[in-house]
Amino acid sequence: MLFTTNWISTLFNNYKGVATDEIKINEIVTDSRMPSTKSLFIPIQGENFDGHDYIKEAFNNGAIAAFWNKSKEVPSFLPTEFPLFYVEDTLEALQKLAAAYRSEINPVVIGITGSNGKTTTKDLVASVMKTTYKTHATNGNFNNEIGLPLTILAMPRETEMLVLEMGMSNFGEIERLSKIALPDYAIITNIGESHIEYLGTRKGIAKAKTEIVKGMTDKGYLLIDGDEALLSELHNRNHVITCGFKAGNDVEIKNTIISHNHTEFNLADNSTFSIPLLGKHHALNATLAITLAKQLKIADHTIQQALSSLQLTSMRFEMIAGKNGVSIINDAYNASPTSMKAAIEVVKQMEGFSTKILILGDILELGEHSQTFHESVSEVIDGSISVLFTLGDQAKMISEKVNSKTEGTIVKHFTTKEELVDDLAFYLKEDTLLLFKASRGMQFEKMIEQIN
Ligand code: ATP
Ligand code: MG
Repeated sequence: MLFTTNWISTLFNNYKGVATDEIKINEIVTDSRMPSTKSLFIPIQGENFDGHDYIKEAFNNGAIAAFWNKSKEVPSFLPTEFPLFYVEDTLEALQKLAAAYRSEINPVVIGITGSNGKTTTKDLVASVMKTTYKTHATNGNFNNEIGLPLTILAMPRETEMLVLEMGMSNFGEIERLSKIALPDYAIITNIGESHIEYLGTRKGIAKAKTEIVKGMTDKGYLLIDGDEALLSELHNRNHVITCGFKAGNDVEIKNTIISHNHTEFNLADNSTFSIPLLGKHHALNATLAITLAKQLKIADHTIQQALSSLQLTSMRFEMIAGKNGVSIINDAYNASPTSMKAAIEVVKQMEGFSTKILILGDILELGEHSQTFHESVSEVIDGSISVLFTLGDQAKMISEKVNSKTEGTIVKHFTTKEELVDDLAFYLKEDTLLLFKASRGMQFEKMIEQIN
């Protein structure tokens, strides 16, 4: 049981029907199609749909109470005793309910933002926290103004540790999420270029991520990528811990070694960790999680055990064994210029492959900066990459730039997935490493399915 309609009525006192301690709410639903038991239906008004139009479906699927925009007519089929809470704005009401529930349960709250690596770091933090605390974490990528309150409201009452991913595409959004969640600890993984279309510059992005401090309690710490100059204003604040590869960070990462299936590194306190993820950027994500766990008094060996048995949200730099002994890295979940370059750096650092092939596609939502950013990807491609295939109008600029500067790399641009897959068949041999990387909308996972 989450709470009763009586508890809701202490927050929203304009209602019809009955609100008593006897009416227990098990779950919150915003999607009327979801079968539920004893749920509170919160109809959200979107651009194309209005949840209020689906109250009957929600009712038939198990809703026993609902929020209701007070300017809307109440449907006549509802029984008179059905509790309906009248509000100005149902989305704001969802957020207010989540904030109240967070304070009622009062777990330790960890908020995670950043341009790249939020979900990975959230998965790392949750795995480690689960060893010691009753932990509830964001499911998948449920990180926005609706997903975050729903995550909070899905937390069991006995939760001790709440791990929340916080996403955004514009100014003010992280502040809003942070003020709902009131994080005791927060992490800013990195500053990249995602959503630069809305935020103008990388400085703008850093400012938007830094909004996470606005809702923080004064109990814990803010952990940040200490190598990012745009976050340097935070260094001198109290309760900030910097993690990174450069000397001078509070927690310095050293001796990073990337092998076939894991990345190993040391921290300055001489502890050594190994993670089943590939790349220096993941050593940073893990260090943020480890440092947080150390703050919460979790022992190194317990942290290491949790990292070894990591459960990741899929399609993030997943290593797959392909046909004919080919190794495939599926990083087709999403892409930004930073994460694409980071992935290529990892491919370059990996040992034991005679042929390394990059299959790169468009990075979407870069607005007017798109050409510059795509061209910048070419900076990290050198002769150690045997073949570069690109697909999409924007990714074409990567091919063109590489063609004009790099010798020893075979470069080909394609306009359809079919042609690319046909050509790729020739290269599918033992000791070959393939990296698939593009924005989600490019659906690169379809090509992986075809060659496997
Ligand atoms: P989204 O905005 O889609 O929620 P996210 O911030 O949750 O993304 P992840 O899903 O964890 O990020 O990872 C997305 C991509 O970013 C992956 O391709 C991963 O390799 C890359 N990445 C992860 N961490 C970092 C980092 N610290 N720096 C640069 N790139 C990173
Ligand atoms: Mg994410």
